[in-house]
Amino acid sequence: MAERIPFELHLLQSEIQRNLSASAAAYFRIGIGEYLNTERKTWENYQAAVGNLAISIELMLKAFVAHKCFRKLYVSLPDELDIFLSDTSQAPKSIVFCPFENALRTFEFKTIDLDRAIALYGIYFPKEKSELHSYFAFLSATRNVSVHAALPDFQRFDLARVSYLAIKLMQHLAKEGVIFEPSHLRPQTNQILKQFDRERIERVTVVIKRARENAKRLTGTKSSIIVDPDDFRCLAIPCPICGSDVYVSGETENDTRSEDEPSLTFHPDSFACEECGLEIPDARDFGLVGLDEVYDRSDRFNEWCQQYAEWQ
Ligand SMILES: [Zn+2]
Repeated sequence: MAERIPFELHLLQSEIQRNLSASAAAYFRIGIGEYLNTERKTWENYQAAVGNLAISIELMLKAFVAHKCFRKLYVSLPDELDIFLSDTSQAPKSIVFCPFENALRTFEFKTIDLDRAIALYGIYFPKEKSELHSYFAFLSATRNVSVHAALPDFQRFDLARVSYLAIKLMQHLAKEGVIFEPSHLRPQTNQILKQFDRERIERVTVVIKRARENAKRLTGTKSSIIVDPDDFRCLAIPCPICGSDVYVSGETENDTRSEDEPSLTFHPDSFACEECGLEIPDARDFGLVGLDEVYDRSDRFNEWCQQYAEWQ
């Protein structure tokens, strides 16, 4: 609770959040500039755009964590500092905050990784996280490669996906008062969003058509797979075009509203059928081909609870 935090800690927390926000905005400006450059040059040298935008997304999320749940920004803290940040009003008098102040300011303590920051974002903003989860999953899978190595198979569409996520996240966290959005970029970023959504639908329409043609040429029996029913990070979903089972990764969320009606919902990240080539990277487009955006897994609620307890 903010009122319990000593004034100096409150100031320090704001300073760290401001610094993270400023860095996020700086990488965002460079990334969007590089995106527009790359677009003009027929998508050559996209790597600078991807790298800068990926770093910007990570910094935005960390700025949000610093703002909403400061202690969670750090992976492991010395016990004294951990206790102090947990509840400053109850902390033993033997703990002196001063020596830790500079270490926090200069990021001497290791901060959380991208996946953890995304998970925390989901706890505070489940709706926004759910809307963007296909993009977060993609970024999480490609982030290290994009920042540290070349991306030979990276497509123009993938760069657009990273840009889309960066812009949506920037707009949301600016609205929440966490980040100061570079307002002069608004016309360009709105344009990028509009163009992305238009091309997204066009692209899926083409992919569906091609998959239908491929499916006509498939002669063998439909492939079926078996996945562990208690693995809550994946599901086998039949392909709506060719009928083959497709392994789909995603997240299971507990959205139980009352104890009498436990409810678990699986959110697939994306869909890719190796048999007919149907590939839909954004769960929002699943409806275009008759796939559900979410899947009910409430029948495994007890198993999920057991696993969840083991994770603690
Ligand atoms: Zn298929």
